[in-house]
Amino acid sequence: MNEFEFIARYFKRPLPASEGLVLGVGDDCALLQVTAGMQMAISSDALVSGVHFFSDVAPAHLGHKALAVNLSDLAAMGAKPVAFTLALTLPQIDEAWVAEFAKGLWALADAHGCALIGGDTTRGPLAISITVLGELPAGAALLRSGAKAGEGIYVSGTTNDCLGQARAGLELAQGHLQFDMADAAYAAARLELPTPRIALGLALRGVASSCLDLSDGLVGDLQHILQASQVGAVLDLAALQRLAEQRPVLWGLAAQDQQRCMLSGGDDYELLFTVPDEAVPALAQVAASSGTVLTCIGRTRAELGLQCVGAYGQLLALPDYAAWQHFD
Ligand code: ADP
Ligand code: MG
Repeated sequence: MNEFEFIARYFKRPLPASEGLVLGVGDDCALLQVTAGMQMAISSDALVSGVHFFSDVAPAHLGHKALAVNLSDLAAMGAKPVAFTLALTLPQIDEAWVAEFAKGLWALADAHGCALIGGDTTRGPLAISITVLGELPAGAALLRSGAKAGEGIYVSGTTNDCLGQARAGLELAQGHLQFDMADAAYAAARLELPTPRIALGLALRGVASSCLDLSDGLVGDLQHILQASQVGAVLDLAALQRLAEQRPVLWGLAAQDQQRCMLSGGDDYELLFTVPDEAVPALAQVAASSGTVLTCIGRTRAELGLQCVGAYGQLLALPDYAAWQHFD
């Protein structure tokens, strides 16, 4: 099977009927019709074997995750997915592997109506690079730079999902943490099959003042908002601990491990966002319409820098294990 048969078999499908999608896989470029009054949100993320995933990960999970981490960037911006391109670097064409990879990829793409419109296929060490395109009304994007002092800091999840579980899944795979079977399966799924919070990102337009997706860990990622917005923040450790105690995986861990996973863990792809007090009443509807649970875990303030507050209201410095991201 040559490269073109390979692409046609696994990565070429009729384009969904949509005014915006003019031409997909097969020519030198794909063509999109840009809608008047809308802006395109564009983001790329690459996953490299041995760096971002274990080389023996289930290919269907890898297909899901490669697209999920990209869709998560659209969610964080408040953009609606439109299309994506796929650059695949493969050591060889292993058809059984690619068929599974494509299955995971297409399932998530179809769930979000996101069309594969092109890509590239090369030989080399296994790596997957995806570029997503989304759209949103001009001026409506959720930027990192919009937070003001005196706003609530919120993190997304569900009644089962919360930040820190993916890190627990990684430490499980590395043999650093142990769980019973149900929690182990849950943690592995959180690491390998993240859920991009697309509906939440759309619902947060006009509600959140700033937003990003948690890919590198809470402390490090929150600093991106703080720096871009030129505000400081106090993180509520008690709120994080209450959350941990109510969620699978984390509920079985010692407080120290809970805190480490939640503060410095990455790969959760939950949304972290700020909300001015006057918009807080709108959050109940946002949560209901997007099927998420939104938890306040701190507040921004005028004084720069990031501190934590403990259960008795005492101000604490960031725990050591979170600090490396601080100075990274
Ligand atoms: P070119 O040589 O012009 O870069 P290619 O031979 O790489 O074109 O690709 C031919 C067509 O197949 C193009 O439309 C390209 O977008 C598409 N394509 C190549 N690889 C992939 C892939 N992995 N997934 C989806 N489309 C692909
Ligand atoms: Mg090419």
